[in-house]
Amino acid sequence: MKEVRLDGLKALLSTPKHIVVTNHVNPDGDAMGSALGLALSLKKLGHTVNVIVPNDYPDFLKWMPGTAEVLLADQNMPEAERLIAQCAIIFHLDYNAISRAEMLENALTASTAKKVMIDHHRQPEEWPDFIYSDISMSSTSQMVFEFLEMNDWLSLLDESIAECLYTGIVTDTGSFRFAITTGRTHHVAAQLLNLGVAPNIIYDRVFDNNSMSRLRLMGSMLNHMEYYKDQNTALLYLKKAQLMKNNYQRGDSEGFVNYGLSIGGTVLSVFLREDKGIVKISLRSKGQFDVNDLARKHFNGGGHVNAAGGSLTMPMDDALAYTRDLILQLKNVQP
Ligand code: 5GP
Ligand code: MN
Repeated sequence: MKEVRLDGLKALLSTPKHIVVTNHVNPDGDAMGSALGLALSLKKLGHTVNVIVPNDYPDFLKWMPGTAEVLLADQNMPEAERLIAQCAIIFHLDYNAISRAEMLENALTASTAKKVMIDHHRQPEEWPDFIYSDISMSSTSQMVFEFLEMNDWLSLLDESIAECLYTGIVTDTGSFRFAITTGRTHHVAAQLLNLGVAPNIIYDRVFDNNSMSRLRLMGSMLNHMEYYKDQNTALLYLKKAQLMKNNYQRGDSEGFVNYGLSIGGTVLSVFLREDKGIVKISLRSKGQFDVNDLARKHFNGGGHVNAAGGSLTMPMDDALAYTRDLILQLKNVQP
């Protein structure tokens, strides 16, 4: 599904404006890469741009150009509200439902600014004035590239912007291995490499940047893994005690859910992490098995066919029991 409703946006962007760029709660590589890449591009067009993200993001992304100016809304809500109320245009990147901006939701809804969504998640809500939604896209970062191309703005690209967009593409495609990766994804990446992006350096910063405690946390999770052979499903979890013992920092469990899928024949991997008052769920699948559907029906969430997430508001042990029951009832967990 693709929806491009951008008529009039280029004209709106033809004179300098105050623009706010936002993304979803717990921003990941694609959320930050797309937001920073777009913000740097809009600045080059002469706009005043603030990147406002709901809350903090992993340290392994903090080398990205523009990081120093990112406003964390949960740490300075009055300033975030002031900027959102005053700006003329708001970009919503990498989220399809205003509730995904969490603590920013009220301020965003109240603002009279023109709203622009650029996103690749399924079933986008229809609140924005301008929509560029395409679920066949590898990442929102790739869509920012496509958006610049659509407007004849590719000449704005430089090494800094390219590094941001490349990081978003690499993180959302699992380093170009997920099924969502296309020839076009590689073609876009090739153009970013031609602008000076060094793939080894990006890989080093993002993936070979583990702390000891992250690896020990992974060890603890793998030790407790459960496997449901009839459902081709791996169940992974981290309880509060495991997190505390291994000095858990935000982002430390990023990507852990994928380890379940690395067992031969696995179609579904489910990961639960105990959080303050909720249990955060991550789902990954291979082939046709639709985890967006599973997340919407059973975990108050959503996402893509092969990658989705959600949460349960119940104690960790209850969430585990609920999830085990659900897995045992699943039929046709086939690729
Ligand atoms: P992750 O498992 O990495 O947190 O998220 C996987 C995908 O699911 C991402 O594309 C993310 O945007 C989406 N997602 C994660 N958590 C939620 C949630 O609580 N609600 C919705 N609607 N989507 C989510
Ligand atoms: Mn994304």
